[in-house]
Amino acid sequence: MKKKTPLIGYTLIFLGTAFLVADADALFNMYYLHYASIIVGIVILLIYYLTTRSEKNLLCRIGFHKFEHVGWDDKVTFRLIYRCQRCGYEKKVIRSSGGGV
Ligand SMILES: [Zn+2]
Repeated sequence: MKKKTPLIGYTLIFLGTAFLVADADALFNMYYLHYASIIVGIVILLIYYLTTRSEKNLLCRIGFHKFEHVGWDDKVTFRLIYRCQRCGYEKKVIRSSGGGV
């Protein structure tokens, strides 16, 4: 059951968004039901992440890491290493040399 919790949250958000897009002119009460579905889905996801993840910072637990560029990967060219200032979580991002960003 616990593993299905994020799925339920995402399903509620997806359904709410889908109904919102599909029934823009629907009954007023239904309109609020769509928002309620999205909000309940988000709340379910937040509770799930807050209770299952171990990061000390609450923002990190729900996926909002504060990344800073700490260096380059010496194994793969053009791969940047980012580390979260709060929890130390690291992620590696490949950046192409000719990227137009
Ligand atoms: Zn973090």
